[in-house]
Amino acid sequence: MAEPLSARALLPLAAEAATHAYAPYSRFRVGAAVQGERGIYTGANVENASYGLSLCAERSALAAAIAAGERRFAAVAVACIDAPDDAGVSERTPCGACRQWLVELAPDAELAMLGVDGTMQVRDLLPHAFALKAKEK
Ligand SMILES: [Zn+2]
Repeated sequence: MAEPLSARALLPLAAEAATHAYAPYSRFRVGAAVQGERGIYTGANVENASYGLSLCAERSALAAAIAAGERRFAAVAVACIDAPDDAGVSERTPCGACRQWLVELAPDAELAMLGVDGTMQVRDLLPHAFALKAKEK
């Protein structure tokens, strides 16, 4: 396996994934890439005419990785390729639903966002996140 990529190194893959978004209503394409233990998985936002059923890129990428058997993630990148150049962090950061997914599935991951300098830790995205103890098999 190739060396794992850092969150910032995943940004081009997230931006490429965003070009595959299904976003006919918002015209706001988003891509995400996650680095698992065995590989990299990407996702794009998938909108629906019933708006509440739309799926964000972050959850799309995480679902693909989980379906492939991944359980640990080192890095996550998010690219809102249609955000205006002067968009702030709040227009590029994962939404609340995605934060809950990220904190549960990738709490130790580093996060990078296209158009935002540096990185942050996923665990810092959602203080006091809802969590349950996993049941034994
Ligand atoms: Zn989201």
